[in-house]
Amino acid sequence: MTQIAVTLNSRPNTPPPDETLRFGTVFTDHMFMMEYDDGRGWHDPRIVPYQNFSLDPATCVLHYAQAVFDGLKAFRGADGVIRLFRPSAHAARLNRSCAGLCIPELDPALVQESLRALIEIDQRWVPSKPGTALYVRPTVIATETFLGVHPSSSYLYYVILSPVGAYYAEGMNPVKILAMDNHVRAVPGGIGAIKAAANYAASLHGAEEAARAGFTQVLWLDGVQHRYLDEVGTMNIMLRIGDEVITPPLNGAILAGVTRDSVLTLLKSWGIKVAERPVAIDEVLAAASRGALTEMWGTGTAAVISPVGELGYRDARVTINGGRIGELTQRLYDAIVGIQYGTAPDPFGWTTPLTQRVPMPA
Ligand SMILES: *Cc1c(COP(=O)(O)O)cnc(C)c1O
Repeated sequence: MTQIAVTLNSRPNTPPPDETLRFGTVFTDHMFMMEYDDGRGWHDPRIVPYQNFSLDPATCVLHYAQAVFDGLKAFRGADGVIRLFRPSAHAARLNRSCAGLCIPELDPALVQESLRALIEIDQRWVPSKPGTALYVRPTVIATETFLGVHPSSSYLYYVILSPVGAYYAEGMNPVKILAMDNHVRAVPGGIGAIKAAANYAASLHGAEEAARAGFTQVLWLDGVQHRYLDEVGTMNIMLRIGDEVITPPLNGAILAGVTRDSVLTLLKSWGIKVAERPVAIDEVLAAASRGALTEMWGTGTAAVISPVGELGYRDARVTINGGRIGELTQRLYDAIVGIQYGTAPDPFGWTTPLTQRVPMPA
C-alpha cells in the first residue's frame, strides 16, 4: 500500500470567520506534495505544513508553462458531513490535462486519496455558512532545471486548500458578457480542452479589454471562424432557445466541465431537450430578436451556475430575460447546490463523504 506520510503543522492558524471569506485568498495549515523523477516514477506522497517552494530560476515551468491544475470543492452539509463533489471526475480530468502536456499521469486513486486525506487533516477549515465551501486546488508543475523546450524529467504534484465564501454574496447576480472576435482562447488541436495554466495567461488580454468595455466576462468565439460559441470566461456556456437547451459540443477547444456534465445529466433526467451542437453568434442574436432566447448561463465549479443578463457583440446589445435569473437557471442551481450540501438526495452518486477512504494502489 502506498503510504501518505504526515507532518503536522506545529503552528496552526485560526480559520477566519465564514462571513469574511472571499475566493482564493486564505489557505489552510497543510498541503500535499509528491515528486516525479524519470526512472523512479511518482514518489514520496506526503502531507506537510503549508509552505513556500524553493525553485531554481531556471526551473522549466517558469519559462515554458508546463503546468496543469484542477479545481473542485468540499462542502459541509447541514448534517455536519463534509462531502467532496465528483472527485473521481476531477482526478480523471487532471490526468487528461497531464497527458495533454506530456506530464506523466498520476494514479487516480492516489489523487483522490491525496485530496481526501488532506481535507481530513484540515477539516476544521471547511466553512459551514450556507454557500461557503473548501476549494481544492491540485496542481502539477515541471521542475527540471534547464532552458530548452522538451518535456521535463521531473515534476511536482501538490494540493492546496482554500476556504471560500458564497460566490453570490447578495444572491445570484446575472453577468454581462461580451463576444469578441479579436481575441481567441483556444483552437482545435491546441490546449483549450485541458486545464493548462497557459490557457489562463492567454485569456487575460481579452478579459481586460472586455472589462474596460463594462463587461464581466468574455464570451469566447471559436478560434478559426470567430463565429461559434466556445466558452464564457472560465465556464462552459449554455442557452435556452424555445424549449431546448443548447451547449457547444466538446470540440477539442472547449474544457470538459464537470459542472457542464452535471447540468446535462440533470436536464436529461428532467426530460428537457438538450442539444450539444455548434451555436453561431448570429443564431443567438437572431433567437434573441424574435424573443426565443429565454435564458443563458455559464457553468463551473466556482459559481456552479452563472446567469447571463446581457450579451454584447460588436454594436449589438441583448438583454436576456429582462436581466433577471431564468426559471431553469434557478432550478439547476438549486438542484446542484442541494446535492452538494446534502439537503437533496444524490441519485447520481456525485458526492463522496470525507469518511469514505479510497482504496489505494499497491
Ligand atoms: C475549469 C473550467 C471550466 C469549468 O469546469 P468545471 O469542472 O465545471 O469547474 C470551464 N471552462 C474552463 C476554461 C475552465 O478552466
